[in-house]
Amino acid sequence: MKSVYLRKGKEKAILRRHPWVFSGAIDHVDEDITNGEIISIRNLTGDILGYGYFNRATAIAIRMLSFGDRIPDDDYLRTLISAAAARRISSPLLRDTDAYRLVFSEGDSIPGLIVDRYGQHLVVQCLTLGMDRLKGRILPLLIDLFKPESIYERSEHEGRGIEGISKASGQLYGVTPEEITIHERGLSFPVNIKAGQKTGFYLDQRDNRSLVRSLAQDREVLNLFCYTGGFSAAAGAGGARRVVSVDASADALEAATRVMAMNCGETPAVFVRADVFAYLRENPIEADFIIMDPPALATSRQSLAGACRGYKDLHLQVASKCPSGSLLLTCSCSRFVSMELFQMLVFEAFADAGRDAAIIGKYGQPCDHPTNIFCPETEYLKALLVLIN
Ligand code: SAH
Repeated sequence: MKSVYLRKGKEKAILRRHPWVFSGAIDHVDEDITNGEIISIRNLTGDILGYGYFNRATAIAIRMLSFGDRIPDDDYLRTLISAAAARRISSPLLRDTDAYRLVFSEGDSIPGLIVDRYGQHLVVQCLTLGMDRLKGRILPLLIDLFKPESIYERSEHEGRGIEGISKASGQLYGVTPEEITIHERGLSFPVNIKAGQKTGFYLDQRDNRSLVRSLAQDREVLNLFCYTGGFSAAAGAGGARRVVSVDASADALEAATRVMAMNCGETPAVFVRADVFAYLRENPIEADFIIMDPPALATSRQSLAGACRGYKDLHLQVASKCPSGSLLLTCSCSRFVSMELFQMLVFEAFADAGRDAAIIGKYGQPCDHPTNIFCPETEYLKALLVLIN
């Protein structure tokens, strides 16, 4: 196996089990290493620090698969995947759902690999070239460990371009149906694995859906960026007086209509196809429970400034227009926007609107999207519950 040698003093992060090595930390590499290849990582004395996969095209040049002298063979990969599954299976928080993230990349110490479980079907996302090249070894492990009916690939992450690989999707094993109905804490959601966003459903909002359900009684709910209506159905099931769902996508709204009918057919429901920014500017807000979960407005550090203006604009509209006593559940799923920054943007909007408000809850990602304690970059989802005076 070929080796990459780190510059003097640059091994500290790895000794603390951070799974990334940036290109600037590398002193030199063995000849003829190809991008995506598994290599050993050594200090200048030649001691092995661990194993990972290499890509000279990306700022994160190495993602670590193992530390110390543990070779990442199939047995080791199997141990990692089994451990990730065991954490889910034993968690009381996932007892009442048949859909969850089985493997969360660095969060489960398997950089670049995401596996979602929807009932008996698995969806795989490879985020990196290195993981693409490992896919052939991972697949038999998934089949053997979980005996799924089918496995489908949705490797369409934007970052693949930088990795030097194109998007890939398709059937990897068995036959995935056009639609699967999943069951989450008493609610049912049809999921389109092949054509839905990401891998089909926002599993990461599970706990926030429960929160919405517990707060919705007798409220008029406005669900902005509703996608397939996860929060809308949770609000309806929680006794909302009426639910208005807004999204730009006709397909998403069509699915949201069915989701509402399946879960809370009695609840008066309105579906609006619109750009949320324009919708908020052009309409009054009658709702007293606003849910706002936009797509990641910042997908890179470069797009952060624009994203901040977007978040600020959305909150300014809500802060200026919603009735007194309203609740706002506002989310950001961009890892480049920290909780601190997000709270600051919300604060600035309320300050500009001259509106008094209090944060009465702060939330993050659920247990099937664990934050790797050695890699705080695995934290991305944040939500604030705001009570508006
Ligand atoms: N809250 C959803 C997930 C939101 S995903 C859930 O819990 O399932 C983001 C959604 O925003 C997508 O459905 C996308 O169609 C929609 N979207 C993106 N930009 C938009 C815009 N400017 N106006 C309205 N909808 C938008």
